Amino acid sequence: MELFKPFESQDKPVEQKTGTASEHVRVLIIGSGPAGYTAAIYAARANLNPVLYEGLQPGGQLTTTTEVDNFPGYPEGITGPEMMEDLKKQAQRFGTDVRFGMATAANLSKQPFSVTIDNEKEVLADALIIATGATAKYLGLESEDKFKGQGVSACATCDGFFYKGQDVAVVGGGDTACEEATYLAGICRKVYMIVRKPYLRASKAMQDRVANTKNIEVLFEHVTKEVVGDDNGVNGVLLENGKGEIVKKDITGFFLAIGHQPNSDIFKEFIETDEVGYIKTIPGTAKTNIEGVFACGDVQDKHYRQAVTAAGSGCMAALDAERYLGNRIF
Ligand code: NDP
Repeated sequence: MELFKPFESQDKPVEQKTGTASEHVRVLIIGSGPAGYTAAIYAARANLNPVLYEGLQPGGQLTTTTEVDNFPGYPEGITGPEMMEDLKKQAQRFGTDVRFGMATAANLSKQPFSVTIDNEKEVLADALIIATGATAKYLGLESEDKFKGQGVSACATCDGFFYKGQDVAVVGGGDTACEEATYLAGICRKVYMIVRKPYLRASKAMQDRVANTKNIEVLFEHVTKEVVGDDNGVNGVLLENGKGEIVKKDITGFFLAIGHQPNSDIFKEFIETDEVGYIKTIPGTAKTNIEGVFACGDVQDKHYRQAVTAAGSGCMAALDAERYLGNRIF
């Protein structure tokens, strides 16, 4: 028995009144980080012919990091861009149609779901997997941008190891900043926390952890003015203290922990998110409040944010999508 009606439009794009082509696919995956590619590998192997749009930053956040030493299966480590290229090849090997393009609008109010790519092409999907990730916030300083990947990082767990025995700084006063600072304190000689307010926003438990870690110094009411360095990377940071004085700290690593912004804007009208915009999933699944729409990776995870957890949730999303499609005739 054939479970699915054949999608005529998949082979023959339908010209809409606007003149833009529309296409109908079974599984549409938006995002090309570890979550998106893992979902693609599983969906492709289940013969669901997934189409994956890479988004603005093909390969996702990992392409902005250098060595990845904590992804299981790479005893010698691997660079972020190489790992993402491998994941892409693996997804393509099983038939994933990987395309360059950015999802710019969505209508999830009816089946099939509609996603607009690059403001012009409409893709209709029976199941949608959202793996659009999150974007780390940066201060927006020119000098910070200049040293990205050369001492400036937004992920202590990814890059902390390179600063073993050195002095580093973490910007932010929330739970992430406290967590990153205590993680770095176990690797580095000294960790400065640069906090713009006279207090930490973090939970009491995290504040206590920071207070009980000898090699963390919290610089309250300090604002970063400039990251300084040379051809070898970062070697210091200029801060303005509460009295308006400029002070310099000699550091080689400058870590941002001022929050992430989940890339969920175009879906928010339909999908339940928390107050920040993280997509809510039913615990233990990748299911959202809309049947047939699944979310995986950092767009729905503000706690772990690791490549391996994103990949695991991508697998869950594909398995959930497979079961969803298997139970329905379209
Ligand atoms: P938060 O938004 O909680 O904290 C961001 C921090 O960065 C604040 O201290 C904020 O300062 C500071 N900040 C923001 N913008 C700037 C700027 N331009 N310059 C200087 N400082 C800036 O983000 P988190 O990532 O820490 O946490 C996000 C959520 O995840 C929270 O709900 C948190 O509880 C949760 N979380 C929980 C963890 C756990 O339970 N183990 C671990 C990590 C996160 P200000 O206070 O002045 O606004």
